[in-house]
Amino acid sequence: MATSIEQLRQQAHGQVVTSTDEGYDEARAVYNAMIDRRPSAVVRCVDTDDIVAAVNFARDNDLALAVRGGGHSVPGFGTVDDGVVADLSGMRRVDVDAGAKTARAQGGATWGDFNDATNAFGLATTGGIISTTGVAGLTLGGGIGYLTRGCGLSLDNLASAEVVTADGKVLTASEREHEDLFWAMRGGGGNFGVAASLEFRLQPVNEIYGGPMFFELANAGDVLRWYRDFIANAPERFGGFPAFQIAPPLPFIPEERHGDTFLAFVSCWTGPVNDAENNLKPLRDLAPVVAEHVGPMPYPALNSAFDALVPPGLQHYWKANFVKELTDDAIAAHLEHGPKVPAVNSTVHIYPINGAAQRVASDETAFAYREANFATVIAGMWPDPDANEANTAWVRDYAAATAPLSEEGGYINFMSGDDQDRIKANYKGNYDRLVEVKRTYDPSNLFRVNQNIKP
Ligand SMILES: Cc1cc2nc3c(=O)[nH]c(=O)nc-3n(C[C@H](O)[C@H](O)[C@H](O)COP(=O)(O)OP(=O)(O)OC[C@H]3O[C@@H](n4cnc5c(N)ncnc54)[C@H](O)[C@@H]3O)c2cc1C
Repeated sequence: MATSIEQLRQQAHGQVVTSTDEGYDEARAVYNAMIDRRPSAVVRCVDTDDIVAAVNFARDNDLALAVRGGGHSVPGFGTVDDGVVADLSGMRRVDVDAGAKTARAQGGATWGDFNDATNAFGLATTGGIISTTGVAGLTLGGGIGYLTRGCGLSLDNLASAEVVTADGKVLTASEREHEDLFWAMRGGGGNFGVAASLEFRLQPVNEIYGGPMFFELANAGDVLRWYRDFIANAPERFGGFPAFQIAPPLPFIPEERHGDTFLAFVSCWTGPVNDAENNLKPLRDLAPVVAEHVGPMPYPALNSAFDALVPPGLQHYWKANFVKELTDDAIAAHLEHGPKVPAVNSTVHIYPINGAAQRVASDETAFAYREANFATVIAGMWPDPDANEANTAWVRDYAAATAPLSEEGGYINFMSGDDQDRIKANYKGNYDRLVEVKRTYDPSNLFRVNQNIKP
């Protein structure tokens, strides 16, 4: 017999929030302010038992289940109309085993939580470039960041996960247990279960050398062409990406240039500090740097350096593509649309995903695009809901111009809610196997509030 809300409240160790409770609006809100959904219940999970209770409650009552880790999903997959939210944002512990060079993060931990914990031991793994983003959502979709070229995607460093599946069981997924589930979770997003915790392998990374450099738009083509050629064979300890960016009012940028649009290049070098500038010298020789904030800093400092540009509560609309070659035509399209970036919070990043990420075969994990060299994100982010039309139009126009010069698929974590028709393309040759694993672990599609792989 299905459990009632009252029974769920008694079972759960954490709070269960419904529309009649104080704090409902706060409990249903996610990072993207465009998303305004009204779940029947938000279960503020504090342990694995609470996740099991939320899963069983949703399944037995035939309700959709949204799983919230860091809450940063642009399509707002961390909440749902008339369904149940398993909110893991109260489960943020990160335990580091420095001897074994591993860390276990609970399913609601953010990259800020993770990096602070591991940096205390001079260790790290690939995470996202904004510290408030969730470890679970980012890793299960892929995981692109400063360390991708040296350490692979975040999911390449996942050693195991404790997973609550649709039948309410708690399983370990790893190379040795439930290997098919582990394969599918590494790229398949939240389609297969709730990760109560994730265990990662770590690498020695302590101080890095890097930060942003700002170039005039007149030099953007030269910088993009330099980046394309340099990154193909750059040392793997070099991470970095170009970005079209309006200058925020920061002290290192001349005041009279605040609000102007630039081509920024953000770098991160994890090798010997004395070698750092060797990588950047050709770039410095290429074009004058208008402003920069480059130097040695702890790894978590770079990973939180841009947090203030993307506070919670902005409107978000994003598009994404994988790119094999950054051709002259592709660069021309970027030069046409990038400088039109309409808000200081918005940006376009062209991330490199070569190096260590390409030493994993396309069918070794569910993440299929191992031969792509770049992952482009056109990230529309702005504060004013009245400006939605103009900002989404910029994203759409930019995406339309670059799509014909890109692969058919893109990175699921950079996509919007209207990208569900691209799911097959995103997984290419891995799609059929993903459907099989979905049929095994979630035949009724309980986990459907995501970039959904239908059973
Ligand atoms: C400001 C910003 C910066 C970003 N930067 C990067 C970046 O540098 N690199 C990068 O690769 N991506 C980046 N992303 C994209 C990011 O990877 C996705 O938005 C990702 O889905 C966020 O995960 P989350 O846990 O914060 O989000 P949520 O909204 O909580 O979840 C997103 C998806 O993951 C699932 N999920 C979350 N937690 C769990 C769990 N414990 N178990 C099972 N499923 C779960 C959810 O059901 C949902 O489908 C960024 C996004 C934003 C908004």
